[in-house]
Amino acid sequence: MHYIGTRDESISATASQAILKGICSDGGLFVPNEIPKIDKPLQELVEMDYQGLAYEILKLYLNDFTEEELKYCIVNAYDTKFDTKKIVPLVKKADALFLELFHGKTLAFKDMALSILPYFMKIAAKKNGIEKEIVILTATSGDTGKAALEGFADVEGTKIIVFFPEDGVSPVQKLQMTTQEGKNTCVVGIKGNFDDAQSAVKSIFTDKDLAKKLEEKGYLFSSANSINIGRLVPQIVYYFYAYAQAVQQGEIGIGDKLNFTVPTGNFGDILAGYYAKCMGLPVNHFVCASNDNKVLYDFFETGVYNKNRPFYVTVSPSMDILISSNLERFLCQIAGQQKTKQWMQALQTKGSYDTEKIKNAEISGEYATEKETFDAIKKVYDQTGYVIDTHTAVAYASYEKYKNKTGDTTAMVIVSTASPYKFTKDVMIALDKKNEKEDAFALMKELEKISGVSIPESIRGIETRKVLHNTICEKDNIKDFVTKYLLG
Ligand SMILES: *Cc1c(COP(=O)(O)O)cnc(C)c1O
Repeated sequence: MHYIGTRDESISATASQAILKGICSDGGLFVPNEIPKIDKPLQELVEMDYQGLAYEILKLYLNDFTEEELKYCIVNAYDTKFDTKKIVPLVKKADALFLELFHGKTLAFKDMALSILPYFMKIAAKKNGIEKEIVILTATSGDTGKAALEGFADVEGTKIIVFFPEDGVSPVQKLQMTTQEGKNTCVVGIKGNFDDAQSAVKSIFTDKDLAKKLEEKGYLFSSANSINIGRLVPQIVYYFYAYAQAVQQGEIGIGDKLNFTVPTGNFGDILAGYYAKCMGLPVNHFVCASNDNKVLYDFFETGVYNKNRPFYVTVSPSMDILISSNLERFLCQIAGQQKTKQWMQALQTKGSYDTEKIKNAEISGEYATEKETFDAIKKVYDQTGYVIDTHTAVAYASYEKYKNKTGDTTAMVIVSTASPYKFTKDVMIALDKKNEKEDAFALMKELEKISGVSIPESIRGIETRKVLHNTICEKDNIKDFVTKYLLG
């Protein structure tokens, strides 16, 4: 197995090269030339712990890493940084199984991959004889930024620059990033949205002139966004681990199928699930859940992807995205490089493309409006006392729509992507409209009382921490900013 481009199958890279590069030189993404099959029986897999399972999956994708190297990465990534031994507990509440992916340092599922990516990079650089300083450029809709900063802060041989939408993240998300310590960190608010940041970052990656200048200075760009295959692969692990727990908890028998509903933005999380299915995990169906920015819902309904539409700032900001980068990998998987390249060109020039209804029965779209999102938080709380965050609520509301439409009774896993504490204000408003007038940080204490879950250590008292980053940049000046910052 090796890696090829989504727009050109003659592009070829080893796993470690693909991780270092982040993106192909033609703007395409790296994909495995063939999705590997899991090589252990299910019965054995469901008895493993998270770290053991991680090794079984990662070894198939990072096939130029030695066993010792992979185990070093895994042991250092999935340790007591997570506040539970299970790393990603599966809990049954109401009529669904919630896969809690928010027990890492930054309280969102981005920790699952970004805890391990810096270790991959360090080893990949060594393997390829790279002595340059690696510059991690990251566009964030709120959660990737902090998780990447946490992972790369003070990692020798790296610098990290994060761009976030100044007016498009929650108060906690913003403070998590702007109070980040570490000599090698740089955090910039942009006057624009996530798509603006991601497009600028992608164009910097493919700018050959700039790359040359940086090379002379001893820098090499890489990406911590889910366009990097090193982000995607670790995410496959928790789909298997969800299955293992569902079996262990007696929710399903071994070999039975599960469904997953995934709150989706850049399509990275759900794509990892799709890869898990292709590897042999028994999955019946994926529901791709969107908020009001429902470009993916429309795509799965009509086969037309059209980003020419209003952009909404919602209560689930990490999903406020109109260009879902990883859909490209899915398209390549089902339709091949030639078509993918045409569609991506059309997306760039016209902002839309028509796949003429390529049908895929394994994934369908649903979406939740702002009201439906709030209602889902309230409903789950009233029924069970369990408090879910706004993104998880989009998934839950979408699941209900899917279930009503199809009558599918397969056990459903709701991929729970963030702690409610990250979005305290909106969560508390959903529970009681009166909370609109209250301060976001005061409400944390209230949330602690009503949920019985303590305020996570990593954000306790965050409102009093010193802001260390306050740079603001126009969306059209991102490249200039990076050039100046690195080249002076
Ligand atoms: C990033 C994120 C998502 C969307 O995940 P994608 O991989 O971009 O589809 C959903 N919820 C939360 C909380 C996130 O941080």
